[in-house]
Amino acid sequence: MEIGIVGLGLIGGSLAIDLRRQGHTLVGVSRRKETCEQAIDREIVDQASTNLAILATAEVIFLCTPLHSLATTVDQLLPYLDPATILTDVGSVKLSVVAELEPKWPNFVGGHPMAGKAESGLEVAQANLFVDRAYVLTPTATTPAAATETIASLARSLQCRVYYCDPAEHDCAVAWISHLPVMISASLIAACLNQPDRSVLKLAQELASSGFRDTSRVGGGNPELGLMMARYNQPALLQSLYAYRQQLDQIIQQIEQSDWNTLEQQLLQTQQGRSQFSGTT
Ligand code: NAP
Repeated sequence: MEIGIVGLGLIGGSLAIDLRRQGHTLVGVSRRKETCEQAIDREIVDQASTNLAILATAEVIFLCTPLHSLATTVDQLLPYLDPATILTDVGSVKLSVVAELEPKWPNFVGGHPMAGKAESGLEVAQANLFVDRAYVLTPTATTPAAATETIASLARSLQCRVYYCDPAEHDCAVAWISHLPVMISASLIAACLNQPDRSVLKLAQELASSGFRDTSRVGGGNPELGLMMARYNQPALLQSLYAYRQQLDQIIQQIEQSDWNTLEQQLLQTQQGRSQFSGTT
């Protein structure tokens, strides 16, 4: 199959590496000429260009640019597309993206491969990034079933677990397990850095080990991604942040009142509850 990728960064580059190894022909488009050259030099794609016209014969195109440029990319792609071409995106937010892209191209399937890293760009693209990860597809009532199945089968070929859900449901779920943790983790780092006693801060920085590394990891990632989560998933993220603040207030109250029994019950419940989230064992 001839597969196009727009946006040769971490996700687009990693998809291209795995799909090309399976024998597909990969055609890439990126914003900068140097990125296209690097993609060809590293044999990540068969051809690359800054010009979207190169995608005219692609059967499936993965849109892997940042969320804010997806709609413009599709507008610029439209003149080159064959009606049978399937478009799919990899954006971390689905409701606003699907609402914007679906009317532009009926043969569109919203998607979100749930894998990533703190770094961004083609330099950090790697093989097998998606193995054993969830790949969420958000077809709507008007999405052609054949297009959904084509993307699902490509996702399965990357050894992903494919899930189907409604775009709004996706956004609420990822707010809890992806977007809220980024904001909590960023707040943790900010609160520590605001510690007024410089010598205590310095000692804390020297003593920081696995606990701080684990809890600060997602807050120390690509700021652009965090900003996009907040901008494009604002209602669901706010809902989870309000609920989180309520939990934090309860814990503060238990500690202020030395209510150790209630705190212990709460910590027992969270110890047992954590295992219900896949990937946390
Ligand atoms: P990234 O590493 O920054 O890659 C995006 C690439 O797109 C950039 O390297 C840039 O390449 C290129 N680009 C930017 N604007 C463009 C445009 N207008 N036309 C063509 N190419 C353009 O970002 P990423 O982490 O791969 O994220 C890309 C998408 O994946 C986002 O929609 C994000 O929501 C989604 N996603 C990210 C993760 C994650 O954890 N990182 C996980 C799942 C999904 P050059 O400037 O070098 O040409």
